Amino acid sequence: MKAISNNALAPLKQRTMLAPVTIKAFLNCFLLLFVLSVKAQTKNPFGNPLIPDMIADASIQEINGTFYCYATTDGYDKGLQTSGPPVVWKSKDFVNWSFSGFYFPSAVGTKYWAPSKAVAANGKYYIYPTVNGFMYPAVADSPDGPFKLAKGADIFSSSFTSATLLKSKTPKGPAGIDAEIFIDDDKQPYVFWQKRFAAKLNPDMVSIDTASLIQIPTKRQGYSEGPIFFKRKGIYYYLYTLGGDEKYQYAYGMGKTSPLGPFDFPKDDIISTTNHERQVFGPGHGCVFNVPGTDDYYFAYLEFGRRSTNRQTYVNKLEFNEDGTIRPVDLTLNGVGALHPVTSGKKIKVINSKVSSVRSDLVIKRNQDSLFRRTESFSSAFAFDDANGSRWMAAPEDTTSWIVADLGKSRNIKRSEVYFVRPTAGHAYVLEYSANGKTWNSCGGHPDVVIQSPHTDHLNIKARYLRVKILSGVNGVWEWHIY
Ligand code: CA
Repeated sequence: MKAISNNALAPLKQRTMLAPVTIKAFLNCFLLLFVLSVKAQTKNPFGNPLIPDMIADASIQEINGTFYCYATTDGYDKGLQTSGPPVVWKSKDFVNWSFSGFYFPSAVGTKYWAPSKAVAANGKYYIYPTVNGFMYPAVADSPDGPFKLAKGADIFSSSFTSATLLKSKTPKGPAGIDAEIFIDDDKQPYVFWQKRFAAKLNPDMVSIDTASLIQIPTKRQGYSEGPIFFKRKGIYYYLYTLGGDEKYQYAYGMGKTSPLGPFDFPKDDIISTTNHERQVFGPGHGCVFNVPGTDDYYFAYLEFGRRSTNRQTYVNKLEFNEDGTIRPVDLTLNGVGALHPVTSGKKIKVINSKVSSVRSDLVIKRNQDSLFRRTESFSSAFAFDDANGSRWMAAPEDTTSWIVADLGKSRNIKRSEVYFVRPTAGHAYVLEYSANGKTWNSCGGHPDVVIQSPHTDHLNIKARYLRVKILSGVNGVWEWHIY
């Protein structure tokens, strides 16, 4: 496998023996190639999503000073036929995120979609994922889990059972996905789900009050999923999606009477929709959350990303007018940065990088929008650009993938944190260090497959180069942070 250097000047030295005319032609050609290569290395159409992985349908909240992000795990390459496992990403500062293992062990291997936030009630935490197409209440003592089904045996089947939240499609128990839970100030819980359905939850948190079931009449019609519900300054907000793919968007209604309406639908009721100028496509199913003790609200949304179930999740500020109406979200793919102080330390700058191979550029296909044009490049520099939307990927035929970080000179290294691609399937790797880039010594990693992100090694070494050799798992890195 041919090693690829991120230093575009390297090939020039090897060709200085050519005739002058050939040299000129070569230089022209080289300049063009250089420009193309720099362009390829710097172009990241995916910006800086919240999490260094593909996730959708995020439910984010702060619990006791820690942000929790429950979501659908994307990136398993089989569309809606499968999903990744249930993991919860956590962060103290909203910039550095990590997960370790599964929070709902019995749901591993199922099609696990759109978990709600973990709701505190009755001295427990309840969460409401859609598993194999059915909404289930699940319970745990901690938001970290382990969650188990709240009713019956902790196993899943593909039908309505005593364990599902809804009982049947008839006469008033519609099927549905994408549960959103809201508990009002009087402690009455509500559930909102697909196709604009809503109902009171019973105090047991595991069954619905069927007498209260409604289908919310909205200003705009058409298929809808991924509802969001919250209350601010005495106003209830109901956000519902329209469309899908690059046409995914959110509209909303608001009211002061009750969580089940009635709702007013303001004139400018579309708050997130495709923005061609910003190259944001189909901002859809996500959540709204508030930082406790502040009036700061944020809107999280999935983006069309790499098409199908290869989406990433972004966060922007949610802002209100004086009359309580919501302003259209100023969508950017750059993120909102830290929401609490960052204590992870100062990163060592990586000057250059080298890898065993680089995957060819990937042209992302469109579904509905003829203006959608997006190509993903996989240069090694993308592992060091502080952007969770860009990544280095090895060529598919590369069976001995490695990546080298060159720190420019000998540095004291305390810590290495590697965010591999598709971390929820696990990785094994070797971490090595070198003074000259030729002689290597092992200093970390693990031979067994571990499911977490990042993979952290605490070090006490002096070196110019670090190398990660991937032994098992997807051969790619979203980000590699060295401290
Ligand atoms: Ca990156």
